[in-house]
Amino acid sequence: AKDDGKGVARRFDPARFAEAEQRRNDEDDLRTALAEKQFEVFYQPIVDLDGEHTVGVEALVRWRHPSRGLLPPAAFLDLAEEIGLMPELGIWVLEQACEQAVGWQRDNPSFELNVNLSASQLGSPHLADDIQTVLEQTGIPPYLLVLELTESVALTDLAESARVLGSLKTLGVRIALDDFGTGFSSLSHLGALPVDVVKIDRSFVQAMPDSATGASVAEAVLQIARTFGLAPVAEGVEDADTAARLRELECAQAQGYHFAKPMPAAELSDLLAAQVAL
Ligand code: C2E
Ligand code: CA
Ligand code: CA
Ligand code: CA
Repeated sequence: AKDDGKGVARRFDPARFAEAEQRRNDEDDLRTALAEKQFEVFYQPIVDLDGEHTVGVEALVRWRHPSRGLLPPAAFLDLAEEIGLMPELGIWVLEQACEQAVGWQRDNPSFELNVNLSASQLGSPHLADDIQTVLEQTGIPPYLLVLELTESVALTDLAESARVLGSLKTLGVRIALDDFGTGFSSLSHLGALPVDVVKIDRSFVQAMPDSATGASVAEAVLQIARTFGLAPVAEGVEDADTAARLRELECAQAQGYHFAKPMPAAELSDLLAAQVAL
């Protein structure tokens, strides 16, 4: 028989059929979710390690799924990125977060908002225009907006990243390198990117109490940040000892369950009000 190269795929395989159908369902669900705005933005405090006051928040998306409940980004972001929904979802998150943050900035004029950017957003030709529009519509001061980009995305095409980040910087926003330290091979290229902040990946932070080596690695990563003139924020701080060690290492800011988990906007408003009352 002539091999047309499709012999295997043509044979009916129930498992693969079910998988493909599930995948189509997931895609449809996600498109519907975006059209119907089933997403919610949660906010996790970023604190200054000296006074443990909330100096800002990171916006983190959640999916309020009609039957499956509240879903974390790990359950849907990869698919959203793959099927091209991330630019739209990302800008929606930015819009929501900026609207909320304007209110928080009324009580605290230096309150910072961090929002994540995905790889496909970085590749979108109208990213800077879209962000500019959101800044104008919400009235959030650009210097209080920090756009977070993972190190691996930023270092994939260094020249292109430098160009796009440069165009964002002209808006007056700041840039943070997320999951910092996980892409060590390209570290020497860091100086080529217009970055202001680095978020020390939680793998380093969480290894600190484990061993002397863990602590020295975290210290080295902090040192590298300083070498490049970048302000470090430690991620994933889960206990008081780690917070204390980071304070000794003169890391100014941190984020983690030890301080607060990501929460809905209304809860964050309560937390900020309680802090003002102190
Ligand atoms: P990320 O940007 O590194 O965000 C920090 C993640 O660590 C969040 O997970 C947060 O809930 C979690 N986290 C915070 N403190 C602790 C801690 O003390 N211990 C532990 N174990 N985890 C902690 P989340 O909300 O599930 O988000 C996961 C990832 O999804 C984010 O990682 C980010 O890469 C992505 N993501 C979330 N929202 C957005 C978004 O709006 N746009 C884009 N492009 N990506 C997003
Ligand atoms: Ca982030
Ligand atoms: Ca991170
Ligand atoms: Ca991460």
